[in-house]
Amino acid sequence: MDLFKRTSALQPIFANSHLASNISTESYIDVFHSLQMLSNGDTLVSELSLLEKLWASWYIYMNNDILATGILFFATHELMYFGRCLPWLIIDRISFFNKWKIQDEKIPSDKEQWECFKSVLKLHLFVEALPIWLFHPLCATLNISVDVPFPSYLVMFLQICLFFVCEDFWHYWAHRLFHYGWLYKYIHKQHHRYAAPFGLTAEYAHPVEVMSLGFGTVGFPIIYAYIAKYQPSLDLPSLHLFTLSFWITLRLFQAVDSHSGYDFPWSLHNILPFWAGADHHDDHHHYFIGNYASSFRWIDYFMGTESGEIAKANREKRMKRRAEIQSKKTQ
Ligand SMILES: [Zn+2]
Ligand SMILES: [Zn+2]
Repeated sequence: MDLFKRTSALQPIFANSHLASNISTESYIDVFHSLQMLSNGDTLVSELSLLEKLWASWYIYMNNDILATGILFFATHELMYFGRCLPWLIIDRISFFNKWKIQDEKIPSDKEQWECFKSVLKLHLFVEALPIWLFHPLCATLNISVDVPFPSYLVMFLQICLFFVCEDFWHYWAHRLFHYGWLYKYIHKQHHRYAAPFGLTAEYAHPVEVMSLGFGTVGFPIIYAYIAKYQPSLDLPSLHLFTLSFWITLRLFQAVDSHSGYDFPWSLHNILPFWAGADHHDDHHHYFIGNYASSFRWIDYFMGTESGEIAKANREKRMKRRAEIQSKKTQ
């Protein structure tokens, strides 16, 4: 698909002059329509999926990659975060769902939801917006592609799995650190204002916490792209901006869902026992201690930092069993 490769990171996505001259740039719909027309006569374009055509049309229409990536990232973040919070906001108002509420007596009030919404929006506008706008130049430096076609599903899946594991590891240790002394008092305490969390509280936090825990989400893909570029002997598949956007969306969903306060029989952790979910993080807010990881349960399990009475009893049982085995060995 050399046809779509750009010679310079800041050139429009379709550097090919033949294609560029065939595409109208009057409106986004026109660009997309032109691309659809090209599908009929051009085998390379016809192989693109609908999503790839929508993506390519956006970059052609904008004709400015920095702006295109900035708007795309900011809009995706707002839409996915608040969009994912909306069902939880509705569910909180329907008493039928109360039976699945983990801390069933603590339904957030309208005032709490509104205060939280304003605070998170402020954070998005004044703290997260700047790094989002500066992201494209970094992508260009690290060969994070915006070209079409996208990488294969397998490559995207494996890269996203890797990011989930790395983020979880980072989150565990950074979060655990935030529970010490003045770090808790001056930074992390804000996130613990709500002992019974609800969807919107996922990003209700001090800016320092948002930036440091956010490193787990954005930092590892950057490190991955850096290694892929500067260690060619490893033959790592390069990172695509679509993969990155998809990963950030999944991570946002994970964060909002884990703060939802609901545990349904069909919740993911009831299907994948190692998945953390709301059940895991709700206990962290309830007990103020333990369950520091974000996506998975394994680090808290192996580090002996699971929250709650049941986890404590199981931990003690395990320790007792280990001590018994040890004493038998020494006899
Ligand atoms: Zn905490
Ligand atoms: Zn939380």
